[in-house]
Amino acid sequence: MIEKYEHTVQGGQSLENLIRNAALSRQKSGVLPNEHDLEHARSSLPRTLSSDGVGYDKTIEHIIEDLVPAFNNSSLSSNYYGFVTGGVTPAALFADNVVSMFDQNVQVHLKEHSIATDIEYYALGLLVDLLRLDRQSWHNGTFTTGATASNILGLGCGREFALRTAAERKGVSVTSIGEYGLFEVMQAAGLSGVQVLSTLPHSSLAKAAAVLGIGRVNVKNVPREDDPLRFDTRQLETELARPGKASIVSVSCGEVNTGRFATNGIEDMQQLRRLCDMYGAWLHVDGAFGIQCRILDDSAEFASLKAGCEGIELADSIAGDGHKMLNVPYDCGFFLCRHGKEAANVFQNANAAYLAFGATQDIQSPLNIGIENSRRFRALPVYASLLSLGRTGYQDMLQRQIRLARRIAGWLFDHAEYTAFPETSSKDELLKHTYMVVLFCAKRNHLNRELSAKINATLRFFVSGTAWQGKPACRIAIATCMVDEERDFGLVTNVLDKISAETKT
Ligand SMILES: *Cc1c(COP(=O)(O)O)cnc(C)c1O
Repeated sequence: MIEKYEHTVQGGQSLENLIRNAALSRQKSGVLPNEHDLEHARSSLPRTLSSDGVGYDKTIEHIIEDLVPAFNNSSLSSNYYGFVTGGVTPAALFADNVVSMFDQNVQVHLKEHSIATDIEYYALGLLVDLLRLDRQSWHNGTFTTGATASNILGLGCGREFALRTAAERKGVSVTSIGEYGLFEVMQAAGLSGVQVLSTLPHSSLAKAAAVLGIGRVNVKNVPREDDPLRFDTRQLETELARPGKASIVSVSCGEVNTGRFATNGIEDMQQLRRLCDMYGAWLHVDGAFGIQCRILDDSAEFASLKAGCEGIELADSIAGDGHKMLNVPYDCGFFLCRHGKEAANVFQNANAAYLAFGATQDIQSPLNIGIENSRRFRALPVYASLLSLGRTGYQDMLQRQIRLARRIAGWLFDHAEYTAFPETSSKDELLKHTYMVVLFCAKRNHLNRELSAKINATLRFFVSGTAWQGKPACRIAIATCMVDEERDFGLVTNVLDKISAETKT
């Protein structure tokens, strides 16, 4: 196998050089592949499986020459601002290659077998430190494929807890929903359903609700009239008090369109905690990319962002992403839970004696905490990156991302042709609440309809097209470690100025 890797020399290149050179050459062209390269790559895809195979060298050649030119530069470019797509730190990239080479299966903690489960556990501890959470309560959880999977874990634990509590409050004692299933427990306790109460939840929450038998329609918005992202706590209490329902409250700690927060300071979280305790509800935080604000310094510059994730230690579970702000490669998310037992109630890999973890084990086997049994060693890039950058390395990266976003937002606010969202009459107000997301539109409708397409066609930077208050809008999400405030501000404003000037009649 290792000899095979050495074989992969094309014109005397090592495998590493071959990939590196392909990336360097790809990096020189635009953020998206061009039409020709896409077309060529599509036409090169085999229509059927060949019985003998084309062999190793031909396969490599095909990948490097036909396919790679049709990849986008989402991680290789500093100006890919679509979705929330982090870059990859050098240490994480190195570690990810080690993961592929050694191919450890991180599912059962066996002390004599490999150090991999220990490293995963330690990586989780470092992450808990980074996020300024208390290890005593929060050094519990697992690495997942992303925040979607983490939300499934959170709602799974929430469903377990909230249904059991609702049943108990009706005098029916239940050991575990994972054991008996939703239907039997709900019938025995006379309950009619589970609901997830949130404000502008990410779409993956509805997916989680569907997977878990809660149902997408039971993910409900309970917004304040003047701000769709803040909870209307009176309406929330009415929902929580609904007879026959078990409830999970989910906090959007970073709303994906605007990058703003559902709560503002410890009092908001304390109030949610009180309501959840009163009604036996589970409190979940979807902090996919917003939770990173926990690492900011205490300066006034970032105060309103820090307030957005203050008090999340009062939650029962937290979902986060690794492949966004942590800048580790796809796929990586994390799930933290204050109640280790709940995850085991749902996700235990029961009745597999050979996989059982003994009473003497100090580290819980990952297969009893999450969805998968066999798992990639995705904790190693997180471990490597945290080790390499430390707290201040990550802090510095995030602050550069925020400063660039604020500079662009301020420029758009002042511009005659563009509007920055959410609309406000005060530039200070806009900037103070700007995280690493900038949402905007063109003032002229006919330009606005094609704005995201026009920007992306320049191949100089990439934005996500979205909608805001019923109109098309563009979204810039700055999440890469390669961010450079001066250079990137110049590039973005230059492109936007050109587009607005060209379309003027
Ligand atoms: C991105 C995102 C998710 C989903 O994360 P994946 O990594 O794509 O699974 C969930 N919630 C929020 C707030 C997000 O931004």
